[in-house]
Amino acid sequence: MKLDKYSFGIGDRFAQQGEAQLKAIIKAKEMGIEIVPVWNKSNREHQIIHSSPADTRTEADAAVKALNWNDAYHVDADHINLNTVDVFIEHSDFFTLDVADYIGSEVSKVEIDRFLVQAVTYEGVLEIPGIDEPFHISKDSMVEIAKSFLGAVREAAAIYNHIAHKKGVKNFIAEVSMDEVENPQTPVELFFILMMIQQYGIPAQTIAPKFTGRFNKGVDYVGDVAQFTKEFEQDLLVIDFAIKTFGLPENLKLSVHSGSDKFTIYPIMGDLIQKYDKGIHVKTAGTTWLEEVIGLAMAGGDALKMAQSIYSMAYERQDELCGPYATVIDIDPASLPTPEEVNGWDGEKFANTLRHIPDHPDYQTGFRQLIHVGYKVAAELDNEFLEMLSQHRDIVGEQVMVNIFERHIQRLFQNR
Ligand SMILES: [Zn+2]
Repeated sequence: MKLDKYSFGIGDRFAQQGEAQLKAIIKAKEMGIEIVPVWNKSNREHQIIHSSPADTRTEADAAVKALNWNDAYHVDADHINLNTVDVFIEHSDFFTLDVADYIGSEVSKVEIDRFLVQAVTYEGVLEIPGIDEPFHISKDSMVEIAKSFLGAVREAAAIYNHIAHKKGVKNFIAEVSMDEVENPQTPVELFFILMMIQQYGIPAQTIAPKFTGRFNKGVDYVGDVAQFTKEFEQDLLVIDFAIKTFGLPENLKLSVHSGSDKFTIYPIMGDLIQKYDKGIHVKTAGTTWLEEVIGLAMAGGDALKMAQSIYSMAYERQDELCGPYATVIDIDPASLPTPEEVNGWDGEKFANTLRHIPDHPDYQTGFRQLIHVGYKVAAELDNEFLEMLSQHRDIVGEQVMVNIFERHIQRLFQNR
């Protein structure tokens, strides 16, 4: 199974917006940009929502059928490992092998030596076509890279082989992800990681490194934009070189996680993939849920009241809700409006405070991030929440569609 050039991971916590999401992809296609939709959901999300991988498959299939989508689409078992993958195997055809936790895990001298046999070819000066400055690589640095990443790639191979055994090698797409870590991987590290991926026989079609900067949930990129630009460009060229040198799948491409709302870097990534004629996978997850809350607020009446009460509950339970996301959110508690204040807002004020239009005077990043992690509160409302969504499905769906199409796809492909 082959993943096409451009693909978008569209997460949907409550599995209600498949059609609205697909409408954004269809709109892009009408403009000449062909994007493969990939419905992604992690085990963690399933556990919090109390949903199952079968629900994501049902949602995707139903949306595709309803809108007569005849092109490719996939269902991604997001951030799985050997302990969590089994329940996804039947329902997914895209697997994100998350081995971030295995970075730095124990590797034997035999394994390191096996890696070095091939790696030493690149000792000294490594020139990657397209990158002006050559990289200088010592044997010691290669040993360090092996110690850092061999264990992770070995684990990715174990997960890959497990899925391949159960599903058949031709029936799924594999992504290797190492993004949920503190330190970014350099282009040189990426080069050797790709060598390891080839050595361990993983036909990865996407790779998700940790990039420079903060990829906080639901808000813009924070970091050194010039450094990101340089690194992203070098990563593209490294992948290109690795495909040719190691014989990795020719469609292998970068996957950008926590990709929603990174508006600052969208045009940069868009221009660079255009410059080198490369593909990209952008993974977005939780922001469709925010559009649901925005839609409810705009609907007014009881729906607005529900949006307000979701905020109140999230406000009361900040520590509990933010805890699991501590490394990917930055909320200044003092900046948050009180529930009393918010209960006095009309739908428009609520929507404008939440909606990610950075230069809108009402927009508040803390408010947005708190609701982002507050989906557990809505999950507890269960049917009450789902019924409210269904009652206001048009206005909610419109928010979801516009968010993906205008704020994301159009920004990424602004020069096409
Ligand atoms: Zn990720």
